[in-house]
Amino acid sequence: MSDGGAQAETTTGPGSGPDEGDGAGGDLATARRILAERFGFHDFRPGQAEIMASLLGGRDVLAIMPTGGGKSLCYQLPALLAEGLTLVVSPLIALMRNQVAQLQSLGIAAAALHSGNSAVENRDFLQDAESGRLKLLYVAPERLVRADLIQVLQRARIALFAVDEAHCVSQWGHDFRPEYMRLAEIRAELGGPRLIALTATADTATRGDIVERLFGAPPQVFVQGFDRPNLRLAMRPKDGAPRQILDFVRRHEGASGIVYCSSRRQTEDLAAMLNGKGIRALPYHAGLEAGERARNEEVFLQEDGVVVTATIAFGMGIDKPDVRFVAHAALPKNIESYYQEIGRAGRDGLAANTLTLYGLDDIRLRRLQIEEGDAPDEQKRVERQRLNALVALCEAPRCRRQTLLAYFGEQGEPCGNCDLCLEGVQLIDGTVPAQMALSAIARTGQRFGTEHLVAILCGDESEAVRRFQHDCLPTFGIGKERPKTEWRAIFRQIYACGLIAMDYARHGCWTITPAGKEVLYGRQRIEIRTDQLQPGGRKAKSARGTAAPATEDLSGPEQALLQRLKAKRGELAKAQNVPAYVVFPDRTLIEMAKARPADAAALGQLHGIGQAKLDRYGETFLGLIREDAETAA
Ligand code: ADP
Ligand code: ZN
Repeated sequence: MSDGGAQAETTTGPGSGPDEGDGAGGDLATARRILAERFGFHDFRPGQAEIMASLLGGRDVLAIMPTGGGKSLCYQLPALLAEGLTLVVSPLIALMRNQVAQLQSLGIAAAALHSGNSAVENRDFLQDAESGRLKLLYVAPERLVRADLIQVLQRARIALFAVDEAHCVSQWGHDFRPEYMRLAEIRAELGGPRLIALTATADTATRGDIVERLFGAPPQVFVQGFDRPNLRLAMRPKDGAPRQILDFVRRHEGASGIVYCSSRRQTEDLAAMLNGKGIRALPYHAGLEAGERARNEEVFLQEDGVVVTATIAFGMGIDKPDVRFVAHAALPKNIESYYQEIGRAGRDGLAANTLTLYGLDDIRLRRLQIEEGDAPDEQKRVERQRLNALVALCEAPRCRRQTLLAYFGEQGEPCGNCDLCLEGVQLIDGTVPAQMALSAIARTGQRFGTEHLVAILCGDESEAVRRFQHDCLPTFGIGKERPKTEWRAIFRQIYACGLIAMDYARHGCWTITPAGKEVLYGRQRIEIRTDQLQPGGRKAKSARGTAAPATEDLSGPEQALLQRLKAKRGELAKAQNVPAYVVFPDRTLIEMAKARPADAAALGQLHGIGQAKLDRYGETFLGLIREDAETAA
């Protein structure tokens, strides 16, 4: 790690643990002990130890970690070691509530101030904060800026100030919260406690804003790698989206998942379709009545095996670690949104599956949204680039993870956990079909969109083709031997590699770029993917290739026990009105079903079982395991 110079930036990776022998090392050893005893975790996740060592050594920290990387632990654990209160600013009530429930389940004194509590509750929490009974207090930013609250907090001893979702201080992104601009000032009013800011947003512009607006002096910056190796990546052209979604969801029976949709209407339609097939699905979008929306979210969080079909309104506050799959029924907004949305799967680090469907109609729609939005030109330009990066990812000729991480500035080997690595892609020389498509564009004056051009190539005598006399062109019918779906794929591919550009102002018509001219005039060749030409061709293989992971290596009896453990977990969670994973995460139950611990000592060895959980649930689950063995005998 760095020596802590100004604006030092540390990119942490596996095996780069901090030296536990130095000044903060003693504290770090204690942290490690608490990690096992309280949290039931056996090791730090990458980056956590370095970040904590820095905080414990008295530095301010900006931590940039991918979703699911384990950001919360970076302040929760130091909070337990610090004398005084840790104040956590978080913009999302649902997220605060979940975190507090989780901390309480570990026997840690935590509370959240928000509008969902009664006035009396909020007052009691503040008293607890002031008297030193609380270790962590979560506050929404709009509440923290109020003078009366600051006065009370000034009387509490604040040891650590944690700012979650720190990118909300930047106007760059879409989550800007004006109250975040006042946090630096508030920190000073609170006596300038140590500060840790956390975010999953990597963008350098955003990062600059955070450093400038939240920190007085430059903090130590930690950037954790963006790879999420447990997420399986897959993308496919749309070919009957409802059926493709159904096939995908069916491969994850009994698991929680999210299907992102492009419209409110689609969320309703897909939910109805899935329910019709016996899969419990609930829609979620901003147009739902508030009560119903909250209920659907609650059911998804609390129960096992619920699928939510949602617009992007769903997710910001979803802190559920055991989402096993995320599907996109349509192309996401851009590459950042894509990564953020699929990132909601597998936060617990267990295998999770993703599938993104896309089509040219989506690309056009997204362009339209960019161009017709009222953002300044500079931002539109950035948005176009982000969209193009996503399209290139859809049509990528090699490992998707490599392509994706390259966009975020990281290099890696082929991952072995994406559709392209698993199923392979075959590249063929696509120069001739590309030239045909380019020539159709050129000969019609670069004034037409995909469907018209495909009609020309296929020799389709549509009304428009006749009206423009395009049936007299030399290109008319030269691509007859290929079906229209293949031609659409070729247009997508030559778009993805930059041979053509979409002219939004003229209804999404294609124009030829300088690179496209090189190919058209035979000075450059291009390769295209053959699998994209026959989307039906790889179905059988893909069904096997992307089967649901995580529990698939359990034996029959282990599966049966797992179901009983899950049922008990559901019961306990319902009685306490907390999400199932607050009782135990999936991983704990899977380990239990495999190891069948016979006593508390063995149970306590498993992932996620610290002392509080052992005391609270140990007997119940040991009893179940014993019972299961007896009925099997
Ligand atoms: P994010 O970075 O997205 O905020 P969280 O802090 O919610 O991630 O952590 C994601 C999940 O990982 C949580 O379920 C958390 O309990 C778990 N987790 C965090 N640190 C560890 C660890 N060292 N070992 C095992 N699980 C961990
Ligand atoms: Zn790969």
